[in-house]
Amino acid sequence: MESKKKYESVREVLARPEAGGEARLQGWVRTARHGKEVSFLELNDGSCLSGVQIVAGPECEGFEHDVRETGTGCAVQVTGDLVESPGKGQRYEVHARQVVQIGGVEEGYPLQKKRHSFEFLRTIAHLRPRTNTIGAVLRVRDSASRAIHAFFHQEGFVQLHAPLITSSDAEGAGQMFRVTSLDPGNVPRDESGETDWSQDFFGGPSFLSVSGQLEAEIGAMALSRVYTFGPTFRAENSNTARHLAEFWMVEPEVAFCELDDLADLAQHFLRSVFTQVREECQEDLAFFDQRIDDTVLSTIDHVIERPFERITYTQGVEILQSSGRDFEFPVEWGSDLQSEHERFLSEEYFQSPVVVTDYPKGIKAFYMYMNDDERTVAAMDVLVPRIGEIIGGSQREHRLDLLKQRFADQGLSEEEYWWYLDLRRYGSVPHGGFGLGFERLVQFMTGMANIRDVIPFPRVPGSADF
Ligand code: ATP
Ligand code: MN
Repeated sequence: MESKKKYESVREVLARPEAGGEARLQGWVRTARHGKEVSFLELNDGSCLSGVQIVAGPECEGFEHDVRETGTGCAVQVTGDLVESPGKGQRYEVHARQVVQIGGVEEGYPLQKKRHSFEFLRTIAHLRPRTNTIGAVLRVRDSASRAIHAFFHQEGFVQLHAPLITSSDAEGAGQMFRVTSLDPGNVPRDESGETDWSQDFFGGPSFLSVSGQLEAEIGAMALSRVYTFGPTFRAENSNTARHLAEFWMVEPEVAFCELDDLADLAQHFLRSVFTQVREECQEDLAFFDQRIDDTVLSTIDHVIERPFERITYTQGVEILQSSGRDFEFPVEWGSDLQSEHERFLSEEYFQSPVVVTDYPKGIKAFYMYMNDDERTVAAMDVLVPRIGEIIGGSQREHRLDLLKQRFADQGLSEEEYWWYLDLRRYGSVPHGGFGLGFERLVQFMTGMANIRDVIPFPRVPGSADF
């Protein structure tokens, strides 16, 4: 049975097929203009970018106080008639019969009508969702999240809930946050004076996960196609516009799968998500195109319509070296591509998303599949304009002897990853997967320059506020 709602959202009211009838709304006043006879309140409830104009005259119940003393930021509840609006840019307005002020606003409300810088808005993360831009970001984020789940569901993937606390470093990069219940002022010591982690909560060192991949591989080796979608943590001290210490990652992992299949999956996946978000968030995306970055809409269209370019890392290096461009970081075979290189390839050279494959083994993680040339591994990054790397993935090394060799090369302990090696002992198959940084995806779709503005509560070096 459908529950009977006493109030409609602004979105629902604006979507009504015609004017007429009663409208009951609740929300926050963005701006109030009090004329001599009549007041105009712009009401927004976050259900969509637009607000609805409330027109209230002396005949409206609550006029003296609830209307006349309502200003920016106040919460109100309105009952009135939905009429066609004579004003430009809005279809309907509400002629109020009753306005009740639910929450007033004390002096000093920081969100006034003027434009605030994103830096400033980060210092008021408890209020910034009430701005047009951050509200739109959060709706696009939600739409993208649902589109991701819908895609995997439709493709027969099972969602696997990977743990957030782990004892293994999936990237082998050592940029992990320790999780401990020991008292830092009084840690237990062993005979040699070292911290005795065996007395810690989990009986050994434990950390926040940098990736759910290793667990996703366990899932794929039984359920064939799985994905994880959850927060991951990296204690990398990089103060960039593309890195967070806590970010959300989408990680599909597929059995019976080689590098080419993965590149196909990545393309199919991104297009499907973009198509759904473009459909659902038209108003918000048009706003980003107008106010934030005028390539937002055309870039989304490109991703959906054009096939992604595919090159090997070696070809990428050649393109960069013969570009005549003066990069800040030198380009030479064997070193990782920097963000400026990634952006050059996708933004300028190809002007489209690019899948770069087969990177030198020395710059990639231990679990990647060794190619026949024994110099490169079957890695795959997807680069997009403006952002650079948005997806990183690989075919995994499923051959026990070669994986053990990689462990030895990188000085990793076989005992610690015994279960990971077991997967190669019992019914091992070619498999692979990738990780999409969810915030980078949202950045890409919205054109927002800084990753801190596409997550509600950014965690970065020096700040875990709110
Ligand atoms: P980068 O070189 O940009 O630091 P990475 O090679 O460390 O990326 P991966 O380990 O392959 O990234 O992680 C998979 C994806 O997760 C990346 O493609 C990116 O979209 C995202 N990602 C990685 N690190 C961060 C971070 N600190 N903040 C936000 N997203 C991230
Ligand atoms: Mn990184």
